[in-house]
Amino acid sequence: MRRFDLPGQGLSITQITTFCPDDFGPGHTNLHLIEADKLILLDTGVPTRLIATLFYSRFGRQIPPEVEALPPDLNERTLAKGFELAGRTFNDLDLLVLSHGHWDHFLLGDHIVRQSGAKVAAHVLDTPTICNPWSTLLLWTTGWQQARSLGMPLFNAMNESQAFRLQLQTTNLALEVDFPIIEQGSLEADIPVSGVQVKHLPGHSPGSIGLIVGEDDEDKVLLPGDVLLDAITPIPTDLLAYLRTLEDLENMGNFVLALPAHGDEIRDVKARLAFLWEHHRRRLGLTHHVCRKPASIWDVATTDGYFDVPVDPGEFNFLAGLEAMIHVELLSMAGGVRRCDIRDGVHYFLASNETFEAVFGRVMELVRDRAIIPLARF
Ligand SMILES: [Zn+2]
Repeated sequence: MRRFDLPGQGLSITQITTFCPDDFGPGHTNLHLIEADKLILLDTGVPTRLIATLFYSRFGRQIPPEVEALPPDLNERTLAKGFELAGRTFNDLDLLVLSHGHWDHFLLGDHIVRQSGAKVAAHVLDTPTICNPWSTLLLWTTGWQQARSLGMPLFNAMNESQAFRLQLQTTNLALEVDFPIIEQGSLEADIPVSGVQVKHLPGHSPGSIGLIVGEDDEDKVLLPGDVLLDAITPIPTDLLAYLRTLEDLENMGNFVLALPAHGDEIRDVKARLAFLWEHHRRRLGLTHHVCRKPASIWDVATTDGYFDVPVDPGEFNFLAGLEAMIHVELLSMAGGVRRCDIRDGVHYFLASNETFEAVFGRVMELVRDRAIIPLARF
């Protein structure tokens, strides 16, 4: 747990880190308790019992003994301890804000709302998962059809009856969203919360938001959820929206600090934005290069050097497939690749006969001209 004060502004942020294994995603989830004229919690982490059941079973993996040995209410206790160390109780909580509708950011919300009576705010574009009584079941079952079309091998343990054995169809962790966020600007909870602004940062998910804490231009902190992370590159679900978001963040001036929902703080936000631009430019270039011959998305993902850590072509890896897919998709929007074949349900793509620089020029036109809403020519 760490505390960050914004001197002279009457604002402080307490970071509470909850357990989540890094086998499936970015690992531990950071929650942020913001003390302004209201007490706000950003994000929730995951109910401890679901870590052992839902996540390992979804990916057909054995639960490691150290995870099996966890106290069944570890995250619930960590959260309570975090409030205590900040000198607060659950009863003080006014508002739970969700940075986006992914499982590691809202599934413990039900517990928090029951304990505190806090109201919930989230962007309307992510309410289809947050407010969905079957969201845990959907988490388990969605994506498989798409995985097949990428050419990725699926694992044997994958079948829907397992999801039913886990009783996910009755695990309802949906939240009622009391304050749907539509507009950017002041965070509103009946009345505006002073010193806290909302910024829509789509791309990682449609309704991803960041909170900006502090009004002093020289001393404001960005809480970007999963939009910026320190050690890893966040996987967008929509790369065009994500690159537009990176450009928006570049134009927003300086932040003294960004406190992401996973991993360490980012001290040099501009440098991180530049790194992420270069990362996606390079990966688009590699994708275009691999597709000189007809290639499936899995062929792209398993090309030498595509990822820092090599991806085993014989092993299911949903995140690797998704990362390659969004690069193929954006190239396709810019006319840099086209789908040339579908064989045994697997889609193949072929690059245009031009330099990558020419294609990237059109990608940048799409990013900069917000009036263009390109068709995915997938
Ligand atoms: Zn996350």
